[in-house]
Amino acid sequence: MAEVYIALGSNLDQPHKQLDSALESLALHADIDLIAVSSRYQTPPIGPQQPDFINSAAKLGTDLSPEALLDALQAIEHQQNRQRSVHWGPRTLDLDILLYGDLVLDTPRLTIPHALMTERAFVLVPLADLNSHLALPSGETVIELLANCSQQGIVKLESGHL
Ligand code: ATP
Ligand code: MG
Ligand code: MG
Repeated sequence: MAEVYIALGSNLDQPHKQLDSALESLALHADIDLIAVSSRYQTPPIGPQQPDFINSAAKLGTDLSPEALLDALQAIEHQQNRQRSVHWGPRTLDLDILLYGDLVLDTPRLTIPHALMTERAFVLVPLADLNSHLALPSGETVIELLANCSQQGIVKLESGHL
């Protein structure tokens, strides 16, 4: 079973409820074990002006291939009315695969580790909640990466559960 870390984000239509629903869908998925969930954080948006995001991270166990897992995550986004309009625009739900075991993959559809995770505090801070000593395939750890990026504006809201 692969050990997978994903990022969750929402800044539209009751973001906390969006994350609640996404986590419920993941927990109910026959081929996905929801192992742990980070605290939630309010984070300033990147890209165009829009509401702050609520971000979290989760640890999953799955036998799904990376592509099949992406299908499952996109089905959940779709179920929650994710519209793809503006690049980096506001969205009801974004589910990104951060790490899939030690896999390194770069295809037109899927880049693992997630291409921008090393420079995004809104990804690294929740991930550090789950395991700050987690190492990427490059050998860098989450806590080392965090030391190199600004955490300005990121506010911890509540503790995780599970
Ligand atoms: P960003 O990648 O900057 O976080 P985004 O999450 O807003 O942007 P989306 O619109 O959610 O981007 O997804 C665009 C495409 O990114 C997806 O259709 C998917 O094929 C691709 N993609 C590549 N790598 C990943 C990954 N690790 N996790 C999720 N999607 C990925
Ligand atoms: Mg994203
Ligand atoms: Mg995405």
